[in-house]
Amino acid sequence: MGATPPSDPPVEQPAGPPEAPQAPPPPRLRVTKGAPWRIDAGRRAKWSAREFVSANAVEVRQIGDPVLHGPAKKPRLSRLEIESLVARMFASMVVAHGIGIAAPQIGVPLRVVIMDVDEAGIVAIEPKVEWTSPEQEETTEGCLSIRGMYGVLDRPLAARLVANDIAGKRFTLVGDEFGAQCMLHETDHLDGLLYVDRLKSREDLHTVEPEEEEPVSA
Ligand SMILES: [Zn+2]
Repeated sequence: MGATPPSDPPVEQPAGPPEAPQAPPPPRLRVTKGAPWRIDAGRRAKWSAREFVSANAVEVRQIGDPVLHGPAKKPRLSRLEIESLVARMFASMVVAHGIGIAAPQIGVPLRVVIMDVDEAGIVAIEPKVEWTSPEQEETTEGCLSIRGMYGVLDRPLAARLVANDIAGKRFTLVGDEFGAQCMLHETDHLDGLLYVDRLKSREDLHTVEPEEEEPVSA
């Protein structure tokens, strides 16, 4: 997904004394059942390497491209084919500085997403959102497929998703705040929906000004 608010710059970690390091905040995407196939440190390093990226990254499809506006299909691919698809998705996401990506964004109309908030590296096949919290918050959101823009919309504070891993085994993922937002954003892509389709008004869509930081996008 691509979605952090330009109004929400990365928080500087206060420099604490080395003998009392601060515990890292809990990850905003948490596996609660099963064990998804992940883009672990080894794959991340390999698939972020310059040569790999230049050989595998593709231009992210932009709003208006039919592949982004229709439902994606269940993938019927071998494990190797899915790995290769995920590698191309990841390399394309790295180039575009995203924190999530869905297969249709690289022109492949299949139900496969990567959710990478807090470098979770979670690969989800046929993901389904099975619960969202009634509590919502107003947030900003960007998308790799809508360059130079961001929107302001309400999103649930928490969500839960079930999906298959690369071997067809089920897992459950819980997302908080930005993690929930990423989950909802990516699964929307598989139904042909973009965040702009969820805006209450055109007034909630903004251009990223040149002096602003590009919003995090997915
Ligand atoms: Zn997106």
